[in-house]
Amino acid sequence: MSTINLHTHLEGCVRLETAAELAAEAGVSPPTEGWDKALVMRVPSDLTLFLAHVAAAYPLLGSHGALARVAREAIVDAAASDCRYCELRFGPLTHVRPGFDLDAVIGAVCEGVRDGVEQTGIEAGVVVCVLRHHAEDDNMAVARAAARRAGDGVVGFDVAGDELLFPDLGAYVRPFECAAAAGLGLTAHVAEAGPASNIRDAYETLGVRRIGHGTRLGADAEMLAWSVDHGMCLEVCATSNVFTGAARSIAEHPIHRFLDVGCNVVLGDDNPITIDTTLGREVRALRASGLTADQLALIETTAMEVAFCEDSVRAWLRDGSTS
Ligand SMILES: [Zn+2]
Repeated sequence: MSTINLHTHLEGCVRLETAAELAAEAGVSPPTEGWDKALVMRVPSDLTLFLAHVAAAYPLLGSHGALARVAREAIVDAAASDCRYCELRFGPLTHVRPGFDLDAVIGAVCEGVRDGVEQTGIEAGVVVCVLRHHAEDDNMAVARAAARRAGDGVVGFDVAGDELLFPDLGAYVRPFECAAAAGLGLTAHVAEAGPASNIRDAYETLGVRRIGHGTRLGADAEMLAWSVDHGMCLEVCATSNVFTGAARSIAEHPIHRFLDVGCNVVLGDDNPITIDTTLGREVRALRASGLTADQLALIETTAMEVAFCEDSVRAWLRDGSTS
């Protein structure tokens, strides 16, 4: 069993009925084709179309009430899919509006996550993302705001966005240093669209040990061996990789190879509403594609070690897995 979700994006967690209600509240016109077609991808395509479906929720998320609600519902939905610990990530700068600043945006998501945790009894933390296309000073402001909430809802820091258009990680060094100094866990979206060597770059430039996706590593034996040697951990979101075209199918997903060579792997559902999945469905699909119960148990153990949670939560996760 695998019950720890270490890679899920708030913006891909907006329930369809919530989208309709938030749109009505905010005076946002519904898309002509309806929220279902705007938010949910039905067939695999490419990363551009995938991100367009995620971005369709952005106009709905520019208020305290909307962000807190979506964050709370994301935790409730995670709990309903057998998840015991969820790291919910999001890019706060996208949701800033006049009178609704970075601290308020991050505070709203932390409040929603805390309410979801109280409602469900699972544990969760917030991972703040800087986005590659934003200016360095803006990303520095995001890092400072994340650092102010370290230990108070925010547990980690990430860089996401278009890896091909913005490949230079040097622009994120200062924000990552700020986040690390505040004690936040570090992860980075790399080698999803760009080459596997971006994993080594992220390790050397930003100091990350956790990698969002890293799917391209499956085609690079040398970098895969390097990743094993350096204890890198891949946050695998298998269904998402199929929908973005990064993997042909779950059966052909490189997770099988990663595990065979001893590379650390944990799981996520990436954008569960966008691709109609949950952590539970990811686990079942991977099991059906050949992952063994022992491999899934190893994934669970690895996730307990690399989660950005406090040690008390880590102990609670370990206790629950042995009882
Ligand atoms: Zn992601």
